[in-house]
Amino acid sequence: MRHCCQFDAHDIWYLKDTDEFCNRTLFIGVCPVCNKNLVNLYQKNIKTDSVFYIKKVGDTAIDFVRNLSHECVYSRNSINKMNLKPKPYGWKYGINKQKKSKNGEVVIEQYSADFFGNKELIKKNNKIL
Ligand SMILES: [Zn+2]
Repeated sequence: MRHCCQFDAHDIWYLKDTDEFCNRTLFIGVCPVCNKNLVNLYQKNIKTDSVFYIKKVGDTAIDFVRNLSHECVYSRNSINKMNLKPKPYGWKYGINKQKKSKNGEVVIEQYSADFFGNKELIKKNNKIL
């Protein structure tokens, strides 16, 4: 993104199509030099195939994002969070596992798991970790 200097967007929103536009991408950032909010919206006109660009700075940028928030299908930050999240989230269920340790002791491990394949060991022999 560009204002006083070139900088990376803090977040990118992918907006749903409207009757007129598709490929709607909203770049949201804060200028590191002047600290102003900056948003860039790119959207392609379905009929003409041309790309429209809208730029908003400062308070109008916040209002602009607020007005578009209900059209956001997903954002880059939300995807990154999902990919980075090693811990279970959302609906969880418990898994109990019995293992034998090297010296022959039975170890009971309890895991918390979610429906996205994330698993976390929470208890070992009934001790909370
Ligand atoms: Zn600036």
